[in-house]
Amino acid sequence: MSNQSMTSLLRTEAFINGRWASASHQFDVCNPATGAVIAKVANSDSAMTHAAIDAAAQALPQWRALLPKQRAQLLRRWHQLVLDNKRALAELMTTEQGKPLAEAMTEVEYGASYIDWFAGEAERSYGTILSQGATGHKSWYIRQAIGVCAAITPWNFPHAMITRKLAPALAAGCTMVVKPAEATPLSALALAQLAHDAGIPAGVINILPTQQPAAIGEILTTHPDIKKFTFTGSTAVGKQLMAQCASTVKKVSLELGGNAPFIVFEDANLELAAAELIRCKFRNAGQTCISANRVLVQHSVLSQFLELLQSKLQQLTIGSGFEPAVDYGPLINQAAIDKVAGLIADAVAHGAELIAGGKLLPELGPLYYAPTLIFGITPAMRIAQEEIFGPVIAIQAFTDEAQAIRLANAAPVGLAGYFCTEDYRRIERVSTLLECGMLGINTGAISHAYNAFGGIKESGIGREGSPVGIAEYQEIKNITLGDLA
Ligand code: NAD
Repeated sequence: MSNQSMTSLLRTEAFINGRWASASHQFDVCNPATGAVIAKVANSDSAMTHAAIDAAAQALPQWRALLPKQRAQLLRRWHQLVLDNKRALAELMTTEQGKPLAEAMTEVEYGASYIDWFAGEAERSYGTILSQGATGHKSWYIRQAIGVCAAITPWNFPHAMITRKLAPALAAGCTMVVKPAEATPLSALALAQLAHDAGIPAGVINILPTQQPAAIGEILTTHPDIKKFTFTGSTAVGKQLMAQCASTVKKVSLELGGNAPFIVFEDANLELAAAELIRCKFRNAGQTCISANRVLVQHSVLSQFLELLQSKLQQLTIGSGFEPAVDYGPLINQAAIDKVAGLIADAVAHGAELIAGGKLLPELGPLYYAPTLIFGITPAMRIAQEEIFGPVIAIQAFTDEAQAIRLANAAPVGLAGYFCTEDYRRIERVSTLLECGMLGINTGAISHAYNAFGGIKESGIGREGSPVGIAEYQEIKNITLGDLA
């Protein structure tokens, strides 16, 4: 049942208790490539939010009581429908988010892989018998679904950031209310339609598009029926939402911002390092939390590496995500353009050298930014301290390994990190010392459902994917049985 037209999955109302729910007001969702309004979407209000939480609470007992195998079967059916509709989902995503269609297709596959992965994990979630009890006692613990969960997600991966939360929550036996980003609600609503078509019962998944994130977020983070709150987004908003969750002591997972170092040692395969840096940096026009933000290159190979990068930058193709062979599309909005331009201006004003780019591409549209290479970054510059979230490679040179590690770790956040070297002893040393939740060594691609995705320091709490991901949606209950002697 494959319908590859995007309009087949275009939904504009909220999804509450298995039904499409209209709102008294709508907001515009726009195509960043053209500025055109794609859809007018329900601006969910507080009454709708309460209705969604009530629906999730009512659906919980039955959903939680299903056998893990039954939940897994429904998840697998949803996974198949997502893959069957890959083209339509990708078109929706490119239209609302701007990324190239091929990249959107990859995101749909990547997002779907979490549904498949957690269908498997549903069936493999074990308790533990605790070996040594007191005489006449025996103890064990079991894992139970935590209950109703709420999620708030960002615009940069409008599909995968949602399946990464919904799939483990549903696998564990939880129900969920999701508030997608206001720029990209259409991918979320399409996912809800496919879950419904797959037979996932009413109330298990509820989606609230809204243009009032703070008001709806406040309900989701303070409502006593919600036992778990999961957020992907900026560190500033994550801190605020974590504080709001304190009033009801919710279990919290946070996937927040990063400032990834990408270290090129003199013993690296430079061709590979340049290719992996380009791959890591220009995915989604640089708008990813694990994008290389501070590129640290050893002095002895600096000029050779800069030359390699320059020639690779010239080969990039920029344009609308619907054009073939495009490497990246527009940035998400004017604020994103202003931020990137501001970071470049600040770096240049403080002595950095602009080698390539550093400008808009107005012939393509107002939100296109040229591939940019800038050298001479220092830790004091804003570009080294903030997420660039744009198509900019910012380079700083270093002299030895100790300095590289010091520079890399000099950030309050620690999401991803990368380094390139052919020396296996250096791999062991540096991977132990770098302060981040995920490391890519000689690769710029580190996101897979089987990997533990997440950060340390101010990049967050908890992990998504991998064998540990389902635990974020479970409570451990310890049981001691006496009178056995
Ligand atoms: P953002 O924090 O502005 O928004 C994220 C979500 O929070 C959106 O749904 C938004 O509507 C909502 N939101 C904003 N203010 C809110 C408030 N006061 N109360 C409740 N909800 C609120 O971030 P963004 O610009 O959408 O996304 C980019 C950020 O997300 C970057 O910092 C990026 O690094 C991070 N990110 C992290 C990961 C990860 O896995 N660690 C993945 C993707 C993106």
